[in-house]
Amino acid sequence: MQEKGNISIHTENIFPIIKKFLYSDHEIFLRELVSNAVDASQKLKQLSGMGEYNGELGDLKVEVNFDEKAKTITISDKGIGMTADDIKKYINQIAFSGATEFVEKYKDKGDEQQIIGHFGLGFYSAFMVADKVEINSLSHVEGAEPANWICDGSTEFEITEGTRKERGTDIILHINEESEEFLNQARLQGILSKYCKFLPVEIQFGQKDQSVPDGEDKDGKPQYKTVKKDNIINNTTPLWTKSPAELKDEDYLAFYRELYPMSEEPLFWIHLNVDYPFNLTGILYFPKVKNELELQKNKIQLYSRQVFITDEVKDVVPEFLMLLHGVIDSPDIPLNVSRSFLQADGAVKKINTYITKKVADKLAELFKKDRKAFEDKWENIGLFVKYGMLSDEKFYDKAKDFALLQNTDDEFFTFDEYKEKASALQKDKDDNLVYLYATNPAKQHAFIESVKNKSYDVLKFDGPLDSHFIGTLEHKLEKTQLKRVDAETADKLIDKDEKVESVLSDKEKESAKALFEKAINDKNSTVNVESLAADEMPVIVTMPEFMRRMKDMQKQGGGGMMMMGDMPDQYTVAINANHPLVSKILKAKKAENKEQLARQAYDLALLSQGLLEGAALTSFIKRSVAISAE
Ligand code: ADP
Repeated sequence: MQEKGNISIHTENIFPIIKKFLYSDHEIFLRELVSNAVDASQKLKQLSGMGEYNGELGDLKVEVNFDEKAKTITISDKGIGMTADDIKKYINQIAFSGATEFVEKYKDKGDEQQIIGHFGLGFYSAFMVADKVEINSLSHVEGAEPANWICDGSTEFEITEGTRKERGTDIILHINEESEEFLNQARLQGILSKYCKFLPVEIQFGQKDQSVPDGEDKDGKPQYKTVKKDNIINNTTPLWTKSPAELKDEDYLAFYRELYPMSEEPLFWIHLNVDYPFNLTGILYFPKVKNELELQKNKIQLYSRQVFITDEVKDVVPEFLMLLHGVIDSPDIPLNVSRSFLQADGAVKKINTYITKKVADKLAELFKKDRKAFEDKWENIGLFVKYGMLSDEKFYDKAKDFALLQNTDDEFFTFDEYKEKASALQKDKDDNLVYLYATNPAKQHAFIESVKNKSYDVLKFDGPLDSHFIGTLEHKLEKTQLKRVDAETADKLIDKDEKVESVLSDKEKESAKALFEKAINDKNSTVNVESLAADEMPVIVTMPEFMRRMKDMQKQGGGGMMMMGDMPDQYTVAINANHPLVSKILKAKKAENKEQLARQAYDLALLSQGLLEGAALTSFIKRSVAISAE
């Protein structure tokens, strides 16, 4: 029997497309062919399970071999095999998916998720690297004749009586000149361990030379001989395919090390498992992240039925969850399609929502179960939770019950708890809540101390996302403002409209203002004489909240802030009318003494915030030495 024919007409234009555009990554031919071999093996197991195949299953290992001299790569399986008719139908009519028919036929009998064809033009990707492809196959069907098929990448094929004696299929690729890089042990091993590491059927790649003891020679020296050893490249039952009930923490940690050998232990993990309305399994790990630089190191890996697809999960996983590590396995994610299609895809959107919800639920559970442990981990989880709250409304709504605010005494509060705490003292005259915060507790120490004297609390916002997070909080929390402790003097930060009597007369205040303006001599500063508590500092330098935020935004490259480019820092200088030093300065005998003391008081205010540097610092020190020596 010999038959020649033409592969059905619509393929004529498809080959060049496959070759050039379908997969930019030529190495995936191996993933496609090994997956087909695995599918064929699994189908046979299923048929056997359903009583549709009564022969011996035997060892269903898939083998990958290569021959450098003959320039071939061979993928062999002992799966269902194909008759000549099967080949014509499944291979030649490429628009026809054998898997679809298989599912149609058996959909009521078995687990259809296992067998739905997932790669479309998979087999033909072989022509990306081969001039000629051969199939030698023997179907599992009783009495079937073996069949050989050969095709040179044109639309012509030749089918002849086959030679294969054992059930199953060999796919032999005659590698083309441009693709000879693939005839290499390390290269193939690399591709296999990238894509096939967790395939559900054992994959053997060639055989490894191994040195084993072989007795002793006459002098008693140990001898060795070289034997071929099976080189199984995959773990057929990766952790995510198992039931969470049968797994221990150790198992999850060991699997994490398998995925990311060089990494620190994760904080905790979520085992994903859903089969309606889409199919998805996986394990997501929460890494220890303290700064943005660490974020993208270990990526989430996307699998489809245990076949590695990509670690570019940008559209499948919500952006803020890309900080997580681990694996997601779903046959419902459309593969080999354009990005824009993926973004619009309904299943992908649902997967996004599901994962977000699962992650929020897990965090809520951890918070509830052991608040102390949750607080201890906050340094690592916080960045991630804040990122989620900033970027995803739904996540915000869930996270607002477990997200924590940390104060400068390292106490933690939920949003509700903090609201209650602040409500007692931190309401201004218009009944607005004012939350005070520090971005650098060491630098802002003097201000923190002065608001603490008023029994106010100070939150710590010193993380990389905190400036954005502050904006989100203000937007979300009702009648609540956030102010950095050094935005104003303590009295004004939370304006309660309480008048402090002034020790100075209005006239004295005016001369104090004039005197300090002269001593400070900076047109960008606004000097005000204010009646503050006597135990406040004599001079306090602040930058208004809105001004500082604009400057911060500009520093981070925020848009629309260009006009502020050359704007100098503008400070407000409050002179405390009630401080004894101010009275003393006004009463000083000589004009130059007055000015010197005023400048000294101002420099001390700058110094307390680390704003004094350069020539100004040097002259302050010289002046201090001179005053001390007087
Ligand atoms: P898909 O796997 O998405 O159906 P392919 O082009 O990779 O698309 O394969 C087409 C069909 O050829 C498969 O559905 C299957 O019926 C058949 N086939 C491919 N490889 C094998 C194999 N190793 N053993 C048995 N059948 C195979």
